[in-house]
Amino acid sequence: MLVFCPVCANVLVVEEGPNCYRFGCHTCPYIQNITRMVKYRKYPKLKEVDDVLGGASAWENVDSTQETCPKCEHGRAYFMQIQTRSADEPMTTFYKCCNVECAHRWKD
Ligand SMILES: [Zn+2]
Ligand SMILES: [Zn+2]
Repeated sequence: MLVFCPVCANVLVVEEGPNCYRFGCHTCPYIQNITRMVKYRKYPKLKEVDDVLGGASAWENVDSTQETCPKCEHGRAYFMQIQTRSADEPMTTFYKCCNVECAHRWKD
């Protein structure tokens, strides 16, 4: 899916920012953090959200909860909730196993 710069209408590229992934414009200084982007009308597809969540920085400072990992059965997992499609639909919860050797990721 292509996302266009609201300032100059060029295609935005995904880049890794200091805190999270973001869309950046190569033509003008416009930058849009993807965490805020998902509230806009153009939502990334779930697959693309998965890719975003693969970035190590995406899982910094997230809370952990009692959730059993389906892969290694570790009892705790980090979790975050993301609006992936539209505001009318429920949030999708993503988990990441707290066991660093497993680090399995899954979603509700
Ligand atoms: Zn631009
Ligand atoms: Zn695990």
